[in-house]
Amino acid sequence: MKQLYTYGRYLKQKFHTKVSKLPIGLSGFTCPNIDGTVAKGGCTFCLNDSFSPNLAKNADKTFLNLQSKSNPILEKQLQELDTQIVETRKKMRSEWDTQKFLVYFQAFTNTYAPFDTIKTLYDKALTYDDVVGLSIGTRSDSVTDEVLEYLVELSREKEIWIEYGIQSIYDETLERINRGHDALNAERAIRQAKAKGLNVCGHLIFGLPGENQEMMLNSAKAAYEWGIDSVKYHPLYVVKNTLLANEYKAGKFEPISREDYIDTLVKAIALKPEHISIQRVTAGIDDDTLLAPAWCGLPKNKMLDYINKALMKEGWVY
Ligand code: SF4
Repeated sequence: MKQLYTYGRYLKQKFHTKVSKLPIGLSGFTCPNIDGTVAKGGCTFCLNDSFSPNLAKNADKTFLNLQSKSNPILEKQLQELDTQIVETRKKMRSEWDTQKFLVYFQAFTNTYAPFDTIKTLYDKALTYDDVVGLSIGTRSDSVTDEVLEYLVELSREKEIWIEYGIQSIYDETLERINRGHDALNAERAIRQAKAKGLNVCGHLIFGLPGENQEMMLNSAKAAYEWGIDSVKYHPLYVVKNTLLANEYKAGKFEPISREDYIDTLVKAIALKPEHISIQRVTAGIDDDTLLAPAWCGLPKNKMLDYINKALMKEGWVY
């Protein structure tokens, strides 16, 4: 069996030790697709303040955007950053034997804030012991030239990644999920980041409304051609209190089956150039916020077993 080229292997080869992504979610960050700058409500599958009663309780929080002139919660954000890095690093060291870390700004759109805030947070994250770099989750319409140039500067000394949600290359799909940008926007952002020498991870979703397998594989092929260095594959699942949940309940959306997802995944991997590392082969949630499909609530190990069984038929293992 041939071991697939995973992101973990990439990092191990580069740093000669185990490196893990350390996820961070800070107050004050939101998304232009939620706050009304691009659209309101966000992507139809996204659980956010607009549709979640729990999150709405925090509606008096300060949210930043690209036009924010000041940041009254910077100290709070730095405190949160410190707590999350220190606590998660300790846990990862003891549970996974991780030696080095990439701080992963994960929740919402992590370049959607004034430059000074972004710079302060990124700089601070890079001061911690054993932090070798950053991975920044964001949208392709939300990275200013100033931020991009700063990431390029940081990348001279550190391991710097940008993660863009591509999801699909079909504009009709992107409209249907209220993505708020078209495929060309994602392509341009990826090509621009690559032209500047940055590392780019692209996120793809299989099972989007109205898509057949050919479309899903075309999206994967295009993302590879645009130059991504790493890929995350996700199935689309329905979370309660989202726009997608309404579509699902109204019978307007049918989730992808486990068999179809795995078949698409294996075919997408077969099309993938060898040098593109794989960061994720599935996603799910194991709490009662999941509405459908039920298989997205399977324990991760169980799901990986199913995926590996399918991959083994091709002579691969994840
Ligand atoms: S871009 Fe991300 S954070 Fe923004 S609405 Fe879509 S899924 Fe939610």
